[in-house]
Amino acid sequence: MSSSLKAVLTGVVSGKILWDAPLSARTTYRVGGPADALVTLLDVKEVQAVLRFCYEENVAWKLIGRGSNILASDDGYRGVIIVLGDGFKYINRLAESPGEYYHVHVGAAVGLPRLADWCATEELSGFEFASGIPGTIGGAVVMNAGAWGKSMVDVITDVELTDCDQTRIIDAKNLTFSYRCCDTFAAQKNDSVLTGVLIKLRPSESGQIRATMHNLLQKRKERQPLGLPNGGSVFKNPENDSAGRLIEAAGLKGVRIGDAEVSEKHANFIVNQGSASAADILALMDEIKIKVKQQSGVELIPEVEIL
Ligand SMILES: Cc1cc2nc3c(=O)[nH]c(=O)nc-3n(C[C@H](O)[C@H](O)[C@H](O)COP(=O)(O)OP(=O)(O)OC[C@H]3O[C@@H](n4cnc5c(N)ncnc54)[C@H](O)[C@@H]3O)c2cc1C
Repeated sequence: MSSSLKAVLTGVVSGKILWDAPLSARTTYRVGGPADALVTLLDVKEVQAVLRFCYEENVAWKLIGRGSNILASDDGYRGVIIVLGDGFKYINRLAESPGEYYHVHVGAAVGLPRLADWCATEELSGFEFASGIPGTIGGAVVMNAGAWGKSMVDVITDVELTDCDQTRIIDAKNLTFSYRCCDTFAAQKNDSVLTGVLIKLRPSESGQIRATMHNLLQKRKERQPLGLPNGGSVFKNPENDSAGRLIEAAGLKGVRIGDAEVSEKHANFIVNQGSASAADILALMDEIKIKVKQQSGVELIPEVEIL
């Protein structure tokens, strides 16, 4: 980024700016080269100002939550990486929650484990399924993240979308979701940021909620390689099948390229055994796709987003 553009961006952001910021520090795979600029924004006004800067100066931008579904290139990112800061970490229970549900207003940067824990303390049930997903609620809505038969579409009622000029509240009924995707958001062609979410939850007993969460977290620990850097499920599950089963059936568990390895514990996870590069992970993904196609005829589609 030119020094004149850097000067303009510095004038727009009162939060933190890092130049040539390694994306390996921002993704759960722990891979990724430097982004030209990484800005941590404090509030909606600052988000609008940075989006306007990017639009007017024709600079690419991308928002990263916890980077738990992103494989960032070894070459890094030419443009601005946006991170939502403390002003987007609120959790507020709405006073006038009607009927059988209670409504909770959540900032987009709130982590799912923290939100699940808060719900348990507040005796609100419905979010237990998400307690082990290591992303933000913003990223989770964009991905329609889910587990154990439930996904974000089951709990959200409204989302707040912020673009250069305004923040719109959109009823979730007017959004289209599919497996691991908010189609409406995907169709917006990257012109807005999700800044807040409204979710609905039912009252329940705290001990019961925590027991459910504990059971689900135990199952994750047993099945997933949580001790090593990874990006969660690499491929989407094909209809009525599981990507993990297909990869295992193709004999790929333990196959390694560089420090990227198909997990012995769960074949749909690639783990970083130390100093894997994005190129190693991509090469391993290609090998998996080819072998699974040869073995079972199924075309695997990546769930992880390649940046
Ligand atoms: C160990 C492990 C287990 C996992 N288990 C599951 C699971 O059970 N189920 C599941 O669905 N996923 C799972 N994942 C994947 C991942 O955690 C989810 O997809 C999560 O929702 C991503 O959230 P994030 O904040 O990390 O988003 P990121 O990975 O940072 O971003 C994902 C996408 O969302 C966009 N985005 C993020 N926040 C915003 C925002 N506020 N506004 C606009 N766009 C935004 C990004 O630009 C990007 O396109 C797992 C990952 C790991 C590492």
